[in-house]
Amino acid sequence: MSSVIIEIDPASGFCFGVAKAVEAAETQLKENEKLYSLGDIVHNDMEVERLKAKGLNAISNNDLFNLDKKTVLIRAHGEPPSTYQKAKEKGHTIIDATCPIVLKLQLRIKNSWMDLKTKNGQVVIYGKHGHAEVIGLVGQTNNEAIVVESMEEVMKIDLNKPTHFYAQTTKGIDEFDRIATYLKENIKPGLEFKSFDTICRQVACRLPKVMHFAKNHDMMIFVAGKKSSNAKMLFAKCLGANQRSYMVSNGNELNKAWFVQPLKSVGVSGATSTPPWLLEQVVQNIKTIIKNK
Ligand code: SF4
Repeated sequence: MSSVIIEIDPASGFCFGVAKAVEAAETQLKENEKLYSLGDIVHNDMEVERLKAKGLNAISNNDLFNLDKKTVLIRAHGEPPSTYQKAKEKGHTIIDATCPIVLKLQLRIKNSWMDLKTKNGQVVIYGKHGHAEVIGLVGQTNNEAIVVESMEEVMKIDLNKPTHFYAQTTKGIDEFDRIATYLKENIKPGLEFKSFDTICRQVACRLPKVMHFAKNHDMMIFVAGKKSSNAKMLFAKCLGANQRSYMVSNGNELNKAWFVQPLKSVGVSGATSTPPWLLEQVVQNIKTIIKNK
C-alpha cells in the first residue's frame, strides 16, 4: 500500500488569534524562565505540553491571588475586567494576548450594555456557559448579560425589554440566525432590537473548505484536542462529507485497522488550535502504518 497520497488540508493550522498568543508566549519565554498563562493557552494538550517544557505554566484564576509579581499571559479568549484588577492588586505583569476580534467584541458588548442601561434593556449572548471567552464577554456588563445556549433558554428571555443580541466568536451561524429571527419576531413591537453576527469567520470559513477537502479523499484524519469546541464542529462536517473520517489527538491514536483498501488518498486536517507541527507528525505516523501494511 505504498502509493497512497497523504495531504495536509491547506486551510488547517492555527487561526491568527491563537497563532498570535503562542507567538507572544514564545517571545516571553526567551526572556523569562517562567511564564504563567490563565488556563491552557490552546485547547490542545500536545501544544500545551510543548510550551510547558519551555516554561509556560497554566494557572487558574484563583491562583492569581496565591502568586505575587509574576508575568501572566492572557490567552486569545480574553478575560473579564475583574482579572485585570486582581492582577494589578497582586503586582503581576500582564502579557495581553487576547485576540483582536475578541477585544473588539468585548468593547461592543460593553457599549451596548451602557447604552441599554439607560433604557432598562438587556444584552443577550449566544454562547457556551462557563466558556472562558463568554466569561470575559459577560464581565463587560457587570455580569448582567444573559447567556443562552439552547432554544429552551431563549424561550425564558424577557421579550418586553430593548435587546441587543451577540454571539460568542466560535458559535455556529445557523443556530445564531435561528435565535436572532425568533427574537426579532417576538420582542414586543416598538421596542429596540438589534442583532450582531459576531461569529469569527476564521472558523466559519473553514467549514465548507473542510467538507470539500474531506470529500476529495478516501479517508480523513482529523487531529484535535478533546476540549476544542471548533474541532467538534469541523469534525462533524468531515464526517458528513466522508464517513471514513476519524478524530485523533495525536499520531499514537491512529488505528491500523482503518487503513484498508480502497485507499488512494488520506486527508489530514485539524482545528484552529491544532499546531502545524502536530499535523506533520501525524502524516509521518500514517506513512509508517501504510509502509508496514
Ligand atoms: S477563532 Fe477567531 S476570534 Fe477566536 S481566537 Fe481565532 S481568530 Fe480570534
